[in-house]
Amino acid sequence: MHVQVLSSGSEGNSTLIRCGELTLLVDAGLSMRALTERLEAARVSPKQVDHVLLTHAHLDHARSAGIVGKRHGAVVHCPEAMMQNRSVARAPELCALPIGGAFELEVPGGDEPLLIETIPLPHDCDPTVALRLTHRERTAVICTDCGHPRHDLAPLLSGAHLMLLEFNYQPELMATSPYPAKLRKRISGDRGHLSNAQAQELLSELVGTELHTLVLGHLSQKTNTPELALSAARETLEALGRLDVEVHVASQHEVGLNLEV
Ligand SMILES: [Zn+2]
Ligand SMILES: [Zn+2]
Repeated sequence: MHVQVLSSGSEGNSTLIRCGELTLLVDAGLSMRALTERLEAARVSPKQVDHVLLTHAHLDHARSAGIVGKRHGAVVHCPEAMMQNRSVARAPELCALPIGGAFELEVPGGDEPLLIETIPLPHDCDPTVALRLTHRERTAVICTDCGHPRHDLAPLLSGAHLMLLEFNYQPELMATSPYPAKLRKRISGDRGHLSNAQAQELLSELVGTELHTLVLGHLSQKTNTPELALSAARETLEALGRLDVEVHVASQHEVGLNLEV
């Protein structure tokens, strides 16, 4: 299985998963034009996308899901609560994600199926899920849009070989940001986003022996920097004696590396 972040941040999120002959997107929060450009940069045509999995209804995750379904034939999987939303309603094949459950997707060519588990996250859009994807005993975890590092999350998200984890903001930069007070309160609230320190707390509980690659995602462009997020992640990995873990920062504007899980 390979994971390639196409875009990450409040302007749009999408991650390409290639699993044998199966191609899927986790979130499709860019405009269709931008999403097509990113897919082409990853050498994938939108027609090749078999499934789109949506973590939640916020438009920075869901924006073009319905179009990928209608125009290109992908099956869209989303929480039942958002099935009437304009972002997905036009998809001819719409499936309800089991929240806090699991399901399998067939991989063509007699390959093992891909197992997908959804883990509910505290975020101001109900429901919001993290995803745990397992194929041929390799696991990738995608966890963004999480308000706080709830302690029951660790056992549900553990065992990843590759993890995309939210490092959203640095509180000092939030305090001096141009954001209105209401938005600052929303982001830093219990159902907003993870600060670098909160992400460190969750990360310290999630690093298992199998983890080899960590991708820092959903960084705010105004209240965080790649350098701050990287140094926070490295500090935690160092404390755990795990500086061997490869760390990447997902970009809002550029397609990331195609990472093997
Ligand atoms: Zn988001
Ligand atoms: Zn969100």
